[in-house]
Amino acid sequence: MVKENLETVRKTIPYGVLLVAVSKTKPVEALQEAYDAGQRVFGENHALEMRDKHEVLPKDIDWHFIGHLQTNKIKYIVPFVKLIHSIDTENLLQAVNKEAVKHDRIVDCLLQFHIAEEETKFGLNLGEAEGILNSDAFKAMKNVRICGVMGMATNTDDEIQIRKELHHLKDIFGTLKTKYFTDCEYFKEISMGMSDDYPIAIEEGATMVRVGSRIFGARNYNV
Ligand SMILES: *Cc1c(COP(=O)(O)O)cnc(C)c1O
Repeated sequence: MVKENLETVRKTIPYGVLLVAVSKTKPVEALQEAYDAGQRVFGENHALEMRDKHEVLPKDIDWHFIGHLQTNKIKYIVPFVKLIHSIDTENLLQAVNKEAVKHDRIVDCLLQFHIAEEETKFGLNLGEAEGILNSDAFKAMKNVRICGVMGMATNTDDEIQIRKELHHLKDIFGTLKTKYFTDCEYFKEISMGMSDDYPIAIEEGATMVRVGSRIFGARNYNV
């Protein structure tokens, strides 16, 4: 099933957009099946789960962390993580930087923005992000690199609202690019779009989509 689903999804993703296969809660067998079908980029939202999967699966997988990251769990993922999508405080970024120094790595990160109507979703607003980017603390962080933005639209059937929220994230990206990252070719990622809204996200300028249930099937519990 995973192989077929993956092939179906791939057909809908244009060249230049990265498909992050969101494998949270799924057993390593399911990830291996996706791997065997050529998938090399996986997204997880629990640090220990991601570490455990990283240990047993092939080493050429790119592991993307997409969930709320607790500072005491950073150490489990910094040695190998490819991209952290979910930086939503200066403290968290600072803590990632500190751990990255220990491993002599530069860890790529995205700033997560709150673009949905729902209260529950994590994320920054533009002012808060600028606060981080303007801070002396940020300027002193040599082992993290901000590569773009991430966001989640409201879970709704209202396509106009989804489109508006995703468009807003694209605008935020443009603002930050112009003000802080004009000369940084690495600041180029817009991570948006999930199983139900990724086609809209691609139309609105996503460079990465995070697709879980459409590849691996419904999850047993909500995370
Ligand atoms: C679970 C999750 C996804 C994937 O959700 P699906 O609806 O299963 O595609 C994408 N992004 C984040 C941040 C997630 O937590």
